[in-house]
Amino acid sequence: MSQRIEASGSASTATCPICGKKFPCGASGPEMACWCFYFPPVDVSFLKSKGIEICICPSCLRRIAIQQGYHEDLLPNIKFTETDWYIV
Ligand SMILES: [Zn+2]
Repeated sequence: MSQRIEASGSASTATCPICGKKFPCGASGPEMACWCFYFPPVDVSFLKSKGIEICICPSCLRRIAIQQGYHEDLLPNIKFTETDWYIV
């Protein structure tokens, strides 16, 4: 059974400051959406206090959201390459 893709997009490649993985970052495409728009509001201010001011990858954002009490079923399941992302 194939999974339905709920949203997708592509963007320029960024490097995650936490794990070093390359991921697509930024709003692009006809809908001007970034994958991060599909996340609930996650408090990343603690990253700024560590000097991290740039975007982090979907895997790290998801892990942080779970640490902050969001149930993983409520978080988008984002697959990504260096330039493309999709939510299944
Ligand atoms: Zn990461």
